[in-house]
Order: sequence, then C-alpha cells, then structure tokens
Amino acid sequence: MKRIGTAILYTLTVMLVGCGAPQRVDRNSFHMGTWVVISVYNTRHAKYIEECFTLLANLEAEVSTNIPDSAISRLNSSGQARLQGDLADILRAAKLVSDASGGAFNIGVLPLQRLWDVQNRLDGEQPPTQSEIDIARELSTTGIDISDDGDALDVQLQKGRGLDLGGIAKGYAGDRCAGQLKENGVNRALINIGGNVRTVGDGEFRVGLRNPRGRAEDLFGLVTVGECNIVTSGDYERYFQTDGIRYHHIYDPETGKPARSGLLSATAIGENGAFADGLSTAIFVMGREEGLALAVNMGYDAVVVTEDYKVYCTENIRASLEIVNDEFELVSD
Ligand code: AMP
Ligand code: MG
Repeated sequence: MKRIGTAILYTLTVMLVGCGAPQRVDRNSFHMGTWVVISVYNTRHAKYIEECFTLLANLEAEVSTNIPDSAISRLNSSGQARLQGDLADILRAAKLVSDASGGAFNIGVLPLQRLWDVQNRLDGEQPPTQSEIDIARELSTTGIDISDDGDALDVQLQKGRGLDLGGIAKGYAGDRCAGQLKENGVNRALINIGGNVRTVGDGEFRVGLRNPRGRAEDLFGLVTVGECNIVTSGDYERYFQTDGIRYHHIYDPETGKPARSGLLSATAIGENGAFADGLSTAIFVMGREEGLALAVNMGYDAVVVTEDYKVYCTENIRASLEIVNDEFELVSD
C-alpha cells in the first residue's frame, strides 16, 4: 500500500492541559510537504495564523528541493551560492548538528534521497543496487564546502552534490512561526508541522508521542513540557516495503541505506527547533545509546522507541513522560 506522508489527524495528538478552552481555534494548511495545524487559544488571535501560513509558504520557496526555482534548488543546480537569512541560519544549525553527530546528520543527503526516492516507489519494487548506492553515498558525503564569514555563508558543491534540508527545515520553521505569533502578542499557541510540535507561551502543554506502528492519531505516550520543540523522526513517515523489508526515508550516511539502528522512532525535545529537528534525525540514525548520549551532550531531551516496543528516554524528561499504551514499556536504565 502506498503511504502518503503524514496524515491530517495530528491535531488529536496534541492536547492542552486543563484545556476546557472554549476559545480555541485550529487552522490547517499544507506546507513543506505536510499538514500544518496551528492552534491559538483566543479567537482574537486567529487572524495571526494566516500570517504564519504565509511565512511557511515563503520559507518553503527558499528551502524546498521539490520546488525547481527555490533558493536551495538553484544552489543545487548551480553548485555555488552566498547565503544570508533563513537559509544561512538553517545551514549553520545543520552544520552544528552534523559535527555533533559525527556526520549521522548529513545535509548532503540529496543524492541518496533522489536515488531511493521512497515516496514514489511502490511496495514490491526493488531497492537500488549496491553499486548505485555506493555512488550516491560517495556523492552525499564528499565535495561540499561551506564557509562562514559571520555575515554570510559561501557554499560550493562539486558536481553531483546537493543539499537537502528535509531533516531540519520544519523545526526551524516552527520557531519562526512561534516568533511571529509572539510578536503579534499571542500568548499561547501550538504549532504542529507534520508532527514537529512547537509550543508557544507560558504554562504546561501535554504533547502526544505517536505510536510508530499505529495510525497517525494513536499515541504511546504523553510528555508534559513548557515552551519548546518536540520533534519526532520515524520509519513510518515515508517508506515502501519489499520482501518484508521496510525501506524508509532516513539514510545512514555510512551505509547509504535506510538507517537500521533498532529504532522505530526518535523524539528530541528542546529550545531550538532546528537543533531538535536535526537531532531527532541524527538519533534515529545513531540508535538508542549513542543517540541519547548525543541529546544529553547538546542539552536536549530525547525519547526513543526500539523495535521491541521499549521506550528509553533521557533522565531529565522521565518524570514528565507518561506511557499511555500497554504495548509499550518505559525502561529505566
Ligand atoms: P526527519 O523526518 O526530520 O527525520 O527528516 C527526514 C528527511 O531528512 C528525509 O526525508 C530526507 O530529506 C532527510 N534526511 C534523510 N536522511 C538524513 C540524514 N542522515 N541526515 C540529514 N537529513 C536526512
Ligand atoms: Mg529531523
């Protein structure tokens, strides 16, 4: 069966503590290849949601590799650019997560992503051959030069290389929307970009963690958090299956294949959306032990689900995590 990315029903995965909120307003719109749901808790704030959708459309026009004349597509075809603004900020965050994760997070993953093309392959189709994978892996991990003079980034790509911001741009976008809502005086809101959640405002939020083997609205847990980003990467978002093997959309730069680190999902929780997003992808590639250690090193929290439905988390978030599905077990170690 063909999967079409993340579903609409994420609204249900997010609940507000003590909500009873009669004035809550939710709006949906499709951006950055996924459904975005923005909720505010005061009807007077509803008009600001549209401004966020405009901001997201503008960002998408810069960062999407699916838009042929986006800034990133132009960079990928010309092989060089001097970047400022959002794109530069995203690349700076990507470099930091890439360095911190020893390359598990790899901004140059476009050749692998194009080769595997999981969103367009049907179940039963054969995966790429090993020699194709070897070539794309080499292109994804070499030949990219990014230098920063503080004012702007200079990017040089050798032939065949390409940047793909799919693992980090949504987290960045969540923070940008949050900033805009706050500038408009919105004191409480929830931004959900295809499962990347950004809470806005004081007080507590209870955010659902998706069951990686359930429907979009099925949860395995709830975390109670303040203002932050809660970003999840999983093997259920985009994939095809052949001979019982799931080929998903997060690639291990060391193998050039969909990462097999024993995880079904990885959630990163913390202040900066781009870091949390890049980190969730990196943890998914690195696996439980290394991934959780990386989160702690970066000052972030994380929750991972292993293939045997065990849940592990960083110490700091444990008391705020509630398992709500008996199939999953929180392991303390
Ligand atoms: P996420 O859902 O945030 O984990 O991002 C997954 C997306 O990030 C994929 O669809 C690719 O566009 C990109 N991606 C895949 N593997 C990697 C990787 N190892 N490092 C950085 N980005 C990746
Ligand atoms: Mg990510």
